[in-house]
Amino acid sequence: NHTLANVDPDLWSAIQKENHRQQEHIELIASENYASPAVMEAQGTQLTNKYAEGYPGKRYYGGCEFVDIAEQLAIDRVKQLFGAEAANVQPNSGSQANQGVFFAMLKPGDTIMGMSLAEGGHLTHGMALNMSGKWFNVVSYGLNDKEEIDYEALERIAHEKKPKMIIAGASAYALRIDFERISKIAKGIGAYFMVDMAHYAGLIAAGEYPNPVPYADFVTSTTHKSLRGPRGGIILMKAEHEKAINSAIFPGIQGGPLMHVIAAKAVAFKEALTPEFKAYQQQVVKNADALAKALIARGLRIVSGRTESHVMLVDLRAKKITGKEAEAILGTAHMTCNKNAIPNDPEKPFVTSGIRLGSPAFTTRGFKEAEATKVGNLIADVLDNPHDAATIERVKVEVKKLTDAFPVYAS
Ligand code: PLP
Repeated sequence: NHTLANVDPDLWSAIQKENHRQQEHIELIASENYASPAVMEAQGTQLTNKYAEGYPGKRYYGGCEFVDIAEQLAIDRVKQLFGAEAANVQPNSGSQANQGVFFAMLKPGDTIMGMSLAEGGHLTHGMALNMSGKWFNVVSYGLNDKEEIDYEALERIAHEKKPKMIIAGASAYALRIDFERISKIAKGIGAYFMVDMAHYAGLIAAGEYPNPVPYADFVTSTTHKSLRGPRGGIILMKAEHEKAINSAIFPGIQGGPLMHVIAAKAVAFKEALTPEFKAYQQQVVKNADALAKALIARGLRIVSGRTESHVMLVDLRAKKITGKEAEAILGTAHMTCNKNAIPNDPEKPFVTSGIRLGSPAFTTRGFKEAEATKVGNLIADVLDNPHDAATIERVKVEVKKLTDAFPVYAS
């Protein structure tokens, strides 16, 4: 028969192991989540077979009448979800969503301004090795000595350097970003304002984090992080920019859209419009807060002192362990996270003095504050005794109890 297990047992086995890993480990990577069975079902459909260059009603291929329905559902729902005037749901990833905006509005050599990678920004916001850093003249902003975004410096640099576009949004910033304030700064110098809300999108959809859509010319996002959809990207924009953005995505930087992924995005947006999703996001924020407080109680420092979202950076220096070591040792205890530089990190980027933790994934499997607090204590147990095999074994048993009690995909 033609099941995957029969056609390709080697691959099947790797997938089974990954499924098992996702069930047995506590997922703390802030950018990950577990997509719903309905989202995954949409991605596994015959829509993967269809070429549909163009946009609904204006395709370069025949036979698009049904994929048009799928894409229009995704567009209408995401506009409703975030209160956007227009949306493009074709970017294959968050990076391509950002590239699409750059390609539409900028020329190589233009000046852009984003949050520096070292202080929480994303590499597509102007990191030297990224296309954004190679093609544009990059000026960055970062944090003040309270480890909050330094809006005053941002304003000063913006007036001095006159970037053509200011980018807000981050991959490792725990606090609320004042989008309104940055939008005023951008207006003051005639710059475009783009917000990359990838990390916060799910919280924003549920009203648990400030919505940048009223303030920004362009809002880009991934769909697979806190928003809990399939891997992919979106661009929301003011109606006046719709034509430019659509032609920048296709034919600008992409060819045929991934219609099966777009269908899965439509499902995720429908799910995100429900009261259950709002309750989920409220729990995400409560759980992150509980986790941060548990870590603080055990002598760890949280960058900027607290979290107001789903994510936090943990300064490990008090425990005399690097981010690289902590990531590896927590992994052996079945808790998955990533090392992450902290502001002014004395260690190299591949080593770091921090880890980044997030609550979206474990909240999806049902953890509440009690479990989040427990996770914080288990992390601290490991970091207090990183070379003690008995501690690791004991923590692994505790992790197993939690993961058994909260299956990811309950059947
Ligand atoms: N923007 C931000 C703020 C991100 O954190 C990320 C991913 O980590 C991206 C964009 C890139 O998304 P992708 O990995 O889908 O290209």
